[in-house]
Amino acid sequence: MKVNKAELLITAVKQSQYPEEGPLEIALAGRSNVGKSSLINTLINRKNLARTSSKPGKTQTINFYNINDQFRFVDLPGYGYAKVSLKERKKWGKMIENYLVNRKTLAEVFLLVDIRHSPGEHDKVMYDWIKSFGFNGIVIATKADKISRGKQAKHISMLQRELGVENRELIIPFSATKKTNKDKIWNVIKEILMV
Ligand code: GDP
Repeated sequence: MKVNKAELLITAVKQSQYPEEGPLEIALAGRSNVGKSSLINTLINRKNLARTSSKPGKTQTINFYNINDQFRFVDLPGYGYAKVSLKERKKWGKMIENYLVNRKTLAEVFLLVDIRHSPGEHDKVMYDWIKSFGFNGIVIATKADKISRGKQAKHISMLQRELGVENRELIIPFSATKKTNKDKIWNVIKEILMV
């Protein structure tokens, strides 16, 4: 897809700030630092529209990005940051669940996990939520450049087993640095949007 327009609509901390439902939304979930911002930036060919940082975020926000007035990327708050209090974690859970349950224009949720590591408890809960809400359960295995190509299949099998992914094809290895599978992810998005 040719991206002519990409803009941050809002960084929302509460539901009343969400933009009105409009174009379909594709949400990105995953732990802090997994590479959500990098995925967005790579897909839209921008260096820094979505903020990337090596410091996992403290503020829990939902960021809405308008792409071509055609659809939206919705960057859900990252989880798994050890220094976040239990109260904050509960707030995180409510915020995400509320969005997933109520958003009528939500077309799909991508779960991002680091290809190198076993998924954490939050990843598993998130994946179960995604499936239970009736989405396909597409997993993007990030930072694929950090392991050798030869080891990829083994890591994909590990992710499939540990998350309980029905079909291996639903797991897409991705590298923001090498742009691996950028086109493949765009094709998945186009299928979701039916364009
Ligand atoms: P977010 O918190 O999920 O939005 O994660 P970011 O996109 O900010 O990425 C966190 C860190 O991982 C940053 O230092 C990125 O440069 C790095 N990173 C993200 N994607 C990749 C990737 O595909 N390969 C490598 N090597 N580093 C990555």
